[in-house]
Amino acid sequence: MARRFDVIIVGAALNGLVAALALGGARARRPLSVAVIDAVDPYQKVLNSHDARASAITASSKRMFEALGLWEGISPHAQDMREIIVTDGNGSPENRPTLLQFGNQHNARNVTACMVENSRLLEGLLAGTKPPNIELVIGHGVAEQSFGPGLAKLTLVNGEQFSCSLIIAADGAKSAMRSAANIELVGWTYDQMGLVVSFVHDAPHGGRAEEHFTPSGPFAILPLAGNRSSIVWTKRTEEARRLLALSPADFAVELQAQVGSHLGKIAVIGCPQAYPLSMFFARQFHGPRLALIGDAAHVIHPLAGLGLNLGLRDAAALAECVGDAYTLGQDIGGQDVLERYTAWRRFDTVATAASLDGINRLFSNDNSFLRIARDAALRTTNQIAGLKQAFAREAAGQTGDLPKLLRGENI
Ligand SMILES: Cc1cc2nc3c(=O)[nH]c(=O)nc-3n(C[C@H](O)[C@H](O)[C@H](O)COP(=O)(O)OP(=O)(O)OC[C@H]3O[C@@H](n4cnc5c(N)ncnc54)[C@H](O)[C@@H]3O)c2cc1C
Repeated sequence: MARRFDVIIVGAALNGLVAALALGGARARRPLSVAVIDAVDPYQKVLNSHDARASAITASSKRMFEALGLWEGISPHAQDMREIIVTDGNGSPENRPTLLQFGNQHNARNVTACMVENSRLLEGLLAGTKPPNIELVIGHGVAEQSFGPGLAKLTLVNGEQFSCSLIIAADGAKSAMRSAANIELVGWTYDQMGLVVSFVHDAPHGGRAEEHFTPSGPFAILPLAGNRSSIVWTKRTEEARRLLALSPADFAVELQAQVGSHLGKIAVIGCPQAYPLSMFFARQFHGPRLALIGDAAHVIHPLAGLGLNLGLRDAAALAECVGDAYTLGQDIGGQDVLERYTAWRRFDTVATAASLDGINRLFSNDNSFLRIARDAALRTTNQIAGLKQAFAREAAGQTGDLPKLLRGENI
């Protein structure tokens, strides 16, 4: 006998859980019944610090967490980004000319984002994921699926059966749901990996985030709560593999040399992790009775820390489309609802992905002519207040057609 839910979400990571909370959480005005399926136990991921990454959470994503009643649990682990500097990181760490600067360490008024470790985000989302409306089904992946026409159906590898009006694929970059629905991808991989690790340091960071553009790719130092920081160190694949193979002591020496002396002596926490980098998006963000969100729909270069924020926008927009249909008594997995969702989200995503791809290509090279031109362009931008504000609004996720949840309104 198949168990029946309004919506089934495949993938109980950050985007899947946020979508579940938007549709069936305690703050939803008309909560739907939601099952969230994952082969891997997310509670174990928190315990094992499975994901070493930390995420920049934009002001609008933070408003969404507040609207869903989650921010109180997450905020003790959040570090405001008071200042962001972008430098030409071609030279030594002590000699990196600042090209762009947003905010000021001594003034908390212009905070556009904050940093939170992914394991703390996951923990906060799991705390809100509760019955009666949300059920977590953990430990078995999906073996079979069919997408309609009347209902979508799923069978897990242990034989359990489910049916629903809508499946949401939040099953990441290699989404099996997306493949099963024959939705094509457009994009490419980079010969780059993002090395991620956190460290403690002697001197305070003052809430300053740093992005240094080096010929092998951007190197970001991101402030975490306390005297701790996290890095995303973009390296050519071969060089990233060499760094990963180093002993902890040798890695710490190379990292200290890369960070410089301004944070004092550093001590690495845990082991570095490396993520192969790519950029792609699905040709459509939906199929029959199926909607793609997060990395299942798009993967972008992490240089601006926007991937998760785009996924949260997907979850908010989809929840609004589904909620509106439900209120009007329409089929929540119907073609009109899903077309509205794709139309809302796809252009925004493709535009962001394309601009980040351009920035990565422009900066990840050693061409001195290009270097002079791009440094001059950034310095000019730094001096034009209106242009800088426009960049800051974009980085804070304040632009475009924001779904209600990202404006802090419940649905
Ligand atoms: C180096 C790096 C730094 C980043 N920094 C930032 C940042 O600062 N800010 C930001 O906004 N974004 C950032 N991102 C992007 C962000 O981390 C991702 O976009 C986000 O984590 C994707 O989450 P997701 O829930 O969509 O997918 P995933 O985290 O990939 O989760 C997919 C889930 O689906 C489950 N699953 C998969 N297949 C199945 C199946 N068949 N059956 C059942 N379950 C299944 C998996 O177990 C998993 O739990 C960064 C990315 C990288 C690589």
